[in-house]
Amino acid sequence: MADYENTGYPQLGMYIDGEWLTAAGRRTQTVINPATGDALGDLPLASAADLDRALEAAERGFRLWRSTPVEERARVLRGAAQLLRDRIDIIAANATREEGKTLLETRIETMACAGLFDFYAEEAKRNYGRVLVRPAGTRSIVTREPVGPVAAFAPWNFPIHNPGRKLGAPIAAGCSVILKPAEEAPASAMAVVQALIDAGCPADVCQLVFGVPDEVSRHLLASQVIRKVSFTGSTAVGKHLMKLAADTMKRTTMELGGHAPVLIFDDCDLDKAVDLLATGKVRNAGQVCVSPTRFYIQEGIHDRFVAAYTQRMAAVQVGDGLLPDSQMGPMANPRRPAAIADLVADAVSHGGVIGTGGERIDRDGFFFQPTVLSNVPLSARIMNEEPFGPVVVTSPFRTFDEAVEQANRLPFGLAAFAFTENGRQANLLGSAIEAGMIGINTTSLAAADSPFQGIKESGHGSEDGPEGLAACYVTKSIHQV
Ligand code: NAD
Repeated sequence: MADYENTGYPQLGMYIDGEWLTAAGRRTQTVINPATGDALGDLPLASAADLDRALEAAERGFRLWRSTPVEERARVLRGAAQLLRDRIDIIAANATREEGKTLLETRIETMACAGLFDFYAEEAKRNYGRVLVRPAGTRSIVTREPVGPVAAFAPWNFPIHNPGRKLGAPIAAGCSVILKPAEEAPASAMAVVQALIDAGCPADVCQLVFGVPDEVSRHLLASQVIRKVSFTGSTAVGKHLMKLAADTMKRTTMELGGHAPVLIFDDCDLDKAVDLLATGKVRNAGQVCVSPTRFYIQEGIHDRFVAAYTQRMAAVQVGDGLLPDSQMGPMANPRRPAAIADLVADAVSHGGVIGTGGERIDRDGFFFQPTVLSNVPLSARIMNEEPFGPVVVTSPFRTFDEAVEQANRLPFGLAAFAFTENGRQANLLGSAIEAGMIGINTTSLAAADSPFQGIKESGHGSEDGPEGLAACYVTKSIHQV
């Protein structure tokens, strides 16, 4: 539907049963540019009849795709990856327009999505089974088969890569997918789907719907056609969807919220830690589930680290993500700056001290200042709830055990970070911290070939890597006598 010869924002639509469906005759939702507050377009929302049509197509698509040779599935994914690269200028610009993050970030995200499709094009070929040795003339065979049609819900914070994650592994495995991305950033998801279609993905294999989230998830999850639910978003919504999935015993992959601790030891490379943690924090204005947030800093380095980090955060250039000088864009929607302002006010009312930032920026759009808070007691909300914004809280610690205890204090277990030049300490941290992903002297946690996942209330199941593909198969044992 998007015109890739033209650099404008596309007419918005849903892709159901091989057809791009427009807003005509449907309820709509206005898509807003978070840097300006201007309307970008009207998004059609699915009716119950639209969703039924998507379910019927997905059922047909699964029958077709599960018996399509893996080489053909790989060809489609490789072709889509190349189209994403060819179209990067328009895809990245539209993602920045609708989500707000900088153009550099949306370009990296487009490349990451292409890289994931390429990875799964190859990984799908390695679908091995086992033959179990039995008495002569008999045997048992263990195979993996695609799980079935998947209902996938992707949030707005990685508008290109999240849809890519929801589509890449299931399509590689031979599943069909009904994707419901976030209504706030629809053109990005449309571009990913368009790349798959243009690369030869059969229409029934990939459906793209938008709607009222609770209506769509209730409708799709009530259907026996859907065999797996994949969700990325808040823990509260994840728990709600798991309850709905239980009624028809669907499998689930849940990528939920976090509240990433960062342990900064006296022996770290201070300049490197300040640099990586400032860049990592302002990425997508902190609206990243693995964003570094709770900084625990050892006493010997505490004052120097906080001073250098605060200075660095105060100097971040905030502006429209389309402008080359912007290092941090707006927050994605008006809910986010309001939520961050509430959390900061609550922290201050509990005795927290603002080192820098702490306020919305007085201009059009949904901007919030990069913020560093200290002296915040554990009773404040921000020490317990994921802020999902450009805010850091700093606290001192004395011993390794004290730091690990703080890191593991919350029910979340998504990402954690540590900065230390002591190799033995790094090894011990890798085991002691309760998180699905740990970065030691790095804030980079995602790669096509390595699994991305949480533990505890941050979810279960993996995306990316061979583990993400394994989550799209079911196991079958065949005993032949
Ligand atoms: P939210 O909890 O309302 O929504 C989070 C996501 O879930 C959105 O994409 C939304 O469309 C979807 N959603 C909501 N209700 C749903 C339902 N009943 N069925 C299916 N999908 C549903 O919050 P929000 O204001 O959009 O985002 C704020 C919070 O969400 C953040 O504080 C953060 O914790 C979480 N979040 C997490 C991620 C992540 O990568 N894990 C991404 C985006 C948002």
